[in-house]
Amino acid sequence: MDYSQIACGLAQNHLTDWHGKFVHLDIVHDLTRLTDAAKLAGFDLSVASGHRSFERQAAIWNGKFAGQRPVYDLQGNEIELAKLNELEKCEAIMLFSALPGASRHHFGSDLDIYAHNCLEPQQSLQLEPWEYDAGGPFAEFNLWLDEHIQEYGFFRPYERFQGGVAREPWHISHLSVATQLEQHQHVDNIAAALKAHEVLGKQCILNHLPELYRRFIRNITLPA
Ligand SMILES: [Zn+2]
Repeated sequence: MDYSQIACGLAQNHLTDWHGKFVHLDIVHDLTRLTDAAKLAGFDLSVASGHRSFERQAAIWNGKFAGQRPVYDLQGNEIELAKLNELEKCEAIMLFSALPGASRHHFGSDLDIYAHNCLEPQQSLQLEPWEYDAGGPFAEFNLWLDEHIQEYGFFRPYERFQGGVAREPWHISHLSVATQLEQHQHVDNIAAALKAHEVLGKQCILNHLPELYRRFIRNITLPA
């Protein structure tokens, strides 16, 4: 397998279908163990989002950069992107959406999860932090994950906001598989992927890539 291609979302031969979502072949065993254990604890663990390709991430990015998709701040207020310069636009988008080529969803080892049976019949999934906090539908599921996720080889890279990506309690990552792929998702590979594709703000991103890489891409919360 070409790890640099996989790490930047440009190859898919590492994936398999897991209940209708594409995930890395090497996480299936641990994901099944985690799902079975959650089930025993009363939670129907469901995957909202698994692997995402470079093209898919670029469509999200370009939609936001062009003002066709809303961009929010940490308080949930919509940002007026037109008032920002290119670098500020990139930083605003990267709070919630990864740069194409630099998403952990390219790995297939990273998933957005929730507990399907904890939603009311008329309630739809938002993937917002309040759903995982006290009083939210997934509060108990979240506490169960805090206790048990590491036993199955996973951790949460966006557990706390630390100046880069916003807190995402729903985002889990398989530690050993993701750690290997992170090493191939470095500045040079991301830059090469960006140069080969249509990405809005590309020149600005390339000019500032080392600092964006440090602040948003490598700035994750590691397991204790
Ligand atoms: Zn995610």
